[in-house]
Amino acid sequence: MRKKLIAANWKMHKTPQQAREFVDGLLPHVFDHQRDEIVLCPAFVAIPATVEAVGGSTIEVGGQDMYWEKDGAYTGAVSAHMLLAAGCTHVIIGHSERRQYFGETDETVNRKLRAALTAGLKPIVCVGEVLAERESGLTESILRRQCSIAFREISGTQAHALAVAYEPVWAIGTGKTATPELAADAHRVIRAEAAQALGDDAASKMRILYGGSVKPDNAKALMSQSEIDGALVGGASLDPRSFAAIVKW
Ligand code: PEP
Repeated sequence: MRKKLIAANWKMHKTPQQAREFVDGLLPHVFDHQRDEIVLCPAFVAIPATVEAVGGSTIEVGGQDMYWEKDGAYTGAVSAHMLLAAGCTHVIIGHSERRQYFGETDETVNRKLRAALTAGLKPIVCVGEVLAERESGLTESILRRQCSIAFREISGTQAHALAVAYEPVWAIGTGKTATPELAADAHRVIRAEAAQALGDDAASKMRILYGGSVKPDNAKALMSQSEIDGALVGGASLDPRSFAAIVKW
């Protein structure tokens, strides 16, 4: 059984003070929650406040992006080592908004992924098709391409720390959700690609999360699918009660 992972992607929301308030609101609902792993991914500046606020609980903290170099003249960038030093255990890599607005490619996703794993972070790598690709019947080939490039030069042993988030771009922040069956189909494609690149053992242990308008009222239907190993939650993770309701699906 793969333990489910439920991650909050706060995007460019929440100051350090707002992050602290969120954790204060969340903890009473989830302090004894053992069934799933919970990860909060704040903006870089709110990481220290979030790490401090979740201290003593099982909740972990992740970055929303990172650069593959360890340090150097890369203005505005943050490395895996910096995230670790700030108390992060996880990092989101290749979110569709990074691909869409910041020029992220399959190749840069792979470089970041390798650097994260080498440093000892647990990456959550995002893949997913845009609406036009789904409507043209290209979903499977897009997912295969994104995964095969993301997984290049990663060994099966390294991959135990890796999770993939299937996030159909047309479902992110739109209120449209993939049906549980449609998501499970995509997850099977991703797992097959992982088996080819990383081996059967790594693929069978790898968690594949679903992301795209996950809300308290659809979380149960999605999470009940055996192929769905958790959720990456954007909008509905901004309010502690709604995030807690998803965690407790
Ligand atoms: C996301 O940004 O990863 C996401 C899934 O957003 P939302 O839940 O708002 O669709």
